[in-house]
Amino acid sequence: MTYQSFIGLEVHIHLLTKTKVFCRCRSAFGDEPNANVCPVCLGYPGVLPTLNIEAMRMGCMVARSLNCTIPGRTWFERKQYFYPDMTKNYQISQFASPLGQQGYMELEGRGQAGPVKKKVRIKECHLEEDAGKMIHTGTVSLLDYNRAGVSLLEIVTEPDMESGEEAEFFIQELRRIVRYLGVCDGNMEEGSLRADANVSINLPGQGLGRKVEIKNLNSSRFVRLGLNYEIKRQGSLLDAGKTVTQETRLWNENRDETMPMRQKENAQDYRYFPEPDLPVFCPDESFRGSVEKSLVELPRARMKRMMNDYGLSEEQAELICDEKEGADYFEAAAREAKLLPRDRNFRGDEIPLRIANWFLSDIKHILNREGIALRNIASFKLSPPRLASLIAMLGAGRITGKIAKQCLDTVIAEDRDPEEIVKANNWEQLADPASIAKSAEAVFAAESVTVTELRELIAANDAAKAKRRRTLTAYLVGKVIAATGGRADPKLAGQQVELLLNG
Ligand code: ADP
Ligand code: MG
Ligand code: ZN
Repeated sequence: MTYQSFIGLEVHIHLLTKTKVFCRCRSAFGDEPNANVCPVCLGYPGVLPTLNIEAMRMGCMVARSLNCTIPGRTWFERKQYFYPDMTKNYQISQFASPLGQQGYMELEGRGQAGPVKKKVRIKECHLEEDAGKMIHTGTVSLLDYNRAGVSLLEIVTEPDMESGEEAEFFIQELRRIVRYLGVCDGNMEEGSLRADANVSINLPGQGLGRKVEIKNLNSSRFVRLGLNYEIKRQGSLLDAGKTVTQETRLWNENRDETMPMRQKENAQDYRYFPEPDLPVFCPDESFRGSVEKSLVELPRARMKRMMNDYGLSEEQAELICDEKEGADYFEAAAREAKLLPRDRNFRGDEIPLRIANWFLSDIKHILNREGIALRNIASFKLSPPRLASLIAMLGAGRITGKIAKQCLDTVIAEDRDPEEIVKANNWEQLADPASIAKSAEAVFAAESVTVTELRELIAANDAAKAKRRRTLTAYLVGKVIAATGGRADPKLAGQQVELLLNG
């Protein structure tokens, strides 16, 4: 049988606030266990939480970037349940008035299994506190409450996706968006971004089926694998005339399958009620204004604009826009290059493509070698103006491609401007036929054996030996260029060699 599948995601992201959401404890990953705790986040009786307005602002930035509406009043509820990683026995969360409501994300791109184009509705975004972390070591379990009370934003989609690939694409796009906004580092291994994936199947036209939730997926790949596994598993159950049990399952990455965890509680089990210790939050004009001012051009929109502005291919634009800092670097270099004299070797509209090629090959390679993350490209010695001047010198025919690469290495090694390096080393391309002729004469004198063989070949004019002729000619041209320290214009060097051979 073929079934229709429905996938809805609940994605949790750690907001990059300096302090926790309801107290002043430091919010950081990897600190000494239980170093960042206080009576509030340890849930002592009688303490009072206070809202970290920065968490609310960052949450609203995500909500607005996902086209959600921010309501006039938004408040918090207590979600009651017991678990050792949560000392209060309730989590402060949002239930009836999430800070972001009814938005959408346009999924569009090349995708793993072919092009993706789909609008995924966002049900809501709500702000809550994270719980602590349990560490199981052999027979004992340890508790680290550093994470308890860390600002967490939950983004809930409608069940609009249909395959593991689409869900993976959604997570990757969301990750890029929150990184562009600078509100989350998107680090899935450290748990800064984690997803619960809900999935059901049904006969076509019958609407939603009975859902299964796969909890705590900490990589976008597991989201894809877990969902595709679950779609198959549910399909075989229905094929066999059985029903799907509504439950929560876990992805077992060693066995590549989902396993049952618990029958799902429903909202009633949590006994939500309004948090009496926090006032209702009513975003005023100045708060809304500060949110709108912090919004940025989002990755997909930027990609499309850059394809249009610079003639980049979809693949190039995608690679360059993967990180905001990379896209900023590229655009800064392209802007600088436009202002510089060029125009011998490339047309003006070729320059951004040259920059893109350099960026995606040599520069990426050097960044890797030097261990510089794209995020920190601002500290890279080849600044955008330096890259622009290098490309412009190449474009103006002042340096050869080989020298340009050499100059790039020198910029990195010595932290100097390309213009200055080229001058100091006397690397400007030799475009003067007389001095190239001099080098060519010296090469002919030193390579008399080759020259004699080549002259005989030319005289015999044997078509069968044309390849050998070309090889020897190229060899001599290479020697002439080398004799000028790599500076000779290759075209002029070729002409001088021809002149001498025929002379
Ligand atoms: P719960 O109260 O069980 O958490 P919600 O209505 O809050 O359920 O939905 C949680 C997530 O599950 C959402 O992303 C939603 O899109 C998705 N979802 C809800 N019902 C289904 C279903 N029948 N099939 C697939 N996904 C579903
Ligand atoms: Mg839910
Ligand atoms: Zn605290």
